[in-house]
Amino acid sequence: MNFRELGLDERLLEGIDAMGYETATPVQAQVIQPILEGRDIIASAQTGTGKTAAFLLPIVHKMLTSPHPPNHINAMIIVPTRELAIQIAETMEGLGYFTDISCIAVYGGGDGNSFVAEKKALSSGVDMVVCTPGRMIAHLNMGYVKMNQVNYLVLDEADRMLDMGFNDDIMKIISFLPKKRQNLLFSATMPQKMRDLARKLLHDPIEINIAVSKPPEQIVQEAYVVYEPQKIPLIKYILNHKAYTRVIIFCSKKQNVKQLASELKRARFSIEEIHSDLLQDKREQVMQDFRNKKLKILVATDILSRGIDIEEIELVINYDVPNDGEDYIHRIGRTARAETKGTAITFISEPEQRKFAAIEQLLGKPVAKITVPEEFGPAPEYAPKSGGRPGGRSGGRSGGGGRHGGQRNGEGRPSGNRSGGSRPGGNRPGGNRQGDNRPSSGNRGPRPGAAGNKPDASQGNRE
Ligand code: AMP
Repeated sequence: MNFRELGLDERLLEGIDAMGYETATPVQAQVIQPILEGRDIIASAQTGTGKTAAFLLPIVHKMLTSPHPPNHINAMIIVPTRELAIQIAETMEGLGYFTDISCIAVYGGGDGNSFVAEKKALSSGVDMVVCTPGRMIAHLNMGYVKMNQVNYLVLDEADRMLDMGFNDDIMKIISFLPKKRQNLLFSATMPQKMRDLARKLLHDPIEINIAVSKPPEQIVQEAYVVYEPQKIPLIKYILNHKAYTRVIIFCSKKQNVKQLASELKRARFSIEEIHSDLLQDKREQVMQDFRNKKLKILVATDILSRGIDIEEIELVINYDVPNDGEDYIHRIGRTARAETKGTAITFISEPEQRKFAAIEQLLGKPVAKITVPEEFGPAPEYAPKSGGRPGGRSGGRSGGGGRHGGQRNGEGRPSGNRSGGSRPGGNRPGGNRQGDNRPSSGNRGPRPGAAGNKPDASQGNRE
């Protein structure tokens, strides 16, 4: 399903486009419509499934299309941690870039200045507030927050909030809200106490369950943290390192499939490409050659990630980080079928680090990062919280002894030097963070695509 079919406001469609989202993830496909219709929702969906945009998009659409008294908070999103508050506010910055909806992240732990900045935004009536419970209560107790026009309440990662003992705080915040409002509750798990909370808060809710499968245990998952231009040389290196009989390389974009396939053909690998531009006959021929082992390597878009059942695929390479956790699990699930062992290697460029961190969260564990061999030059550090940092090698010196000539870092975290830092949310539209307590409207960064600090030239030519 694409976002236009959902009837979202043109300004939001522009933001979605600038964020590089093409189709709705399963949770988005299921919840956006009922939220637009005004229904309360209880959804079990984890981080990594695209749930943030699943609630932000319809709420912002409604904020754009229904009149609301100015200078009053219209939407309140309560979350367990400051990191999540910052992340949601940043996603809002991207998706809402072409709108004039203002948003602020309100969370504890900052200095006195951030409290003052929050107070200013809250008393002048920012449109959307993303907050952690304790800090919000501190503001509410001071009496300047206008909560009587809040139309939308989101509780995100509600199970974590209950585990952290925030039940009373949440109920206190809610006591300030008008009775008539739309309530959305997202939770990774649905224990009884969550159902009790839902019963108290939600009115005739639609229940949505996005079951996320886990990848088979016997798949060895690894990742290289790289700059975009390092990806193709490194793929050639990996393919030369061992005589694989069957390899699938996934790219999210047709253009990347075509470019990579032509580079690998030029380097005389036994390889073909498969994507939706190919005629059906050609597609079938390619698949048959791959099944018969006439062809060793397939470069494919996600059309191949679901459903194809070819045994003995030894290696899956993700040329780029898939758009959501489900796609990742489907892609890597092409290897290690029927109890055999297989390896899945993902290339993570700087702008993709956050996306990959969300996938790791969904997997419930970090994926081992392999040191990029020295001959490929410096690699970025894995620092997804800050959108990736340029500089040091991603994890010590390789010495050429690792499994693909690289070195495995057991913790799944590289230890390279930090040198400088790129902007958080480096691949998002808008240059300014909202997590730093400034409301976003009127405080814009460069237009989407204008960010100039990325070594990743290919981001600009995504399909
Ligand atoms: P979330 O589960 O909200 O933390 O999102 C996980 C990651 O998926 C984030 O990096 C999002 O920017 C990204 N994402 C969300 N929706 C889409 C989509 N429809 N297409 C591509 N990426 C998406």
